[in-house]
Amino acid sequence: MTPTVTLIVPTYNEEAVLPAAFDRLDALAARGPADRCRYEVLFVDDGSTDGTRGLVGAYAKRRGYADYVFLSRNFGKECAMLAGLDRAEGDAAVIVDADMQDPPELIARMLDLWREGYDDVYARRRSRAGESWFKRTTSRWYYRLLAAMSPVAIQPDTGDFRLLDRRCVLALRRLREANRNTKALFSWIGFRKKEFLYDCDARTAGHSKWNYPKLMRLALDGITSFTTAPLRVAAYVGTAVSVLALGYAGYIVARTLALGVDVPGYASLLVALLFLGGVQLLALGVIGEYLGRMFTEVKRRPDYLVEEESTARGAGGRS
Ligand code: UDP
Ligand code: MG
Repeated sequence: MTPTVTLIVPTYNEEAVLPAAFDRLDALAARGPADRCRYEVLFVDDGSTDGTRGLVGAYAKRRGYADYVFLSRNFGKECAMLAGLDRAEGDAAVIVDADMQDPPELIARMLDLWREGYDDVYARRRSRAGESWFKRTTSRWYYRLLAAMSPVAIQPDTGDFRLLDRRCVLALRRLREANRNTKALFSWIGFRKKEFLYDCDARTAGHSKWNYPKLMRLALDGITSFTTAPLRVAAYVGTAVSVLALGYAGYIVARTLALGVDVPGYASLLVALLFLGGVQLLALGVIGEYLGRMFTEVKRRPDYLVEEESTARGAGGRS
């Protein structure tokens, strides 16, 4: 039986890139028999406010292999992907960005690896066209930091462009945490992983939806949702400071015994006070960060809400 491959395409205000994306997706769908599979497309619109929904809706109506889900507001790409995974009924699913930065033509190569028995074929960027030196460098360092702190291996320079076997999709559906960092979740589920290198294209049009505050939040989420290392660091720093303070106390006692009472000490007192105050606030901040995460987690709100969805491929999925 020919396997079905579901392409999950998250969109958020992408009207500028959609016409080009539709052409590429049509070409890919037509290539299905050549790739020995059947492609279907699932758009997940993440609360677009431009003409994206109109375009996607019209496209899906004209194509038997395309469907859409419109979320009730902008939930972020992580949740949009989850909405897609919840509804991906194919034997495999591939996450492709609407800006076609991840060339869908590479999916044929991913399929070959999938047929060899790999469950999670992820594309690793060899180059990143159209991205600033700053973004490339910060992203490289972030991956290193995350890898150093995280208990599960995180694949560096890997975006969300990957082919997931059905069992990976089912595993990801079970991870319903509110603070989602999909990259780390992909690592966490395990299964047989295989990377292949590719050149990341520049956006065909429009502009990246990410800005540095947003990326910063995602980066912090990645760290705090996957490791409790920062909490441990606070404990280590506290221990180190206590040991140093004890040593210093011994030194003062010895000095006072040898040289008599020494009144001045204002500067060292203030330094110690400020330093400790700083460390305490930092540790409190770290604890607060985790507490905040527990707060959002404990409310058990759904990860996204659906406003409208099409059912060309048959009803199903959950919200
Ligand atoms: N996206 C989304 N919700 C958001 C932001 C982005 O669904 O809140 C989608 C966007 O439409 C695109 C993909 O996620 O298909 C990647 O976004 P973008 O190209 O802006 O990110 P970059 O490639 O610069 O990392
Ligand atoms: Mg992009």
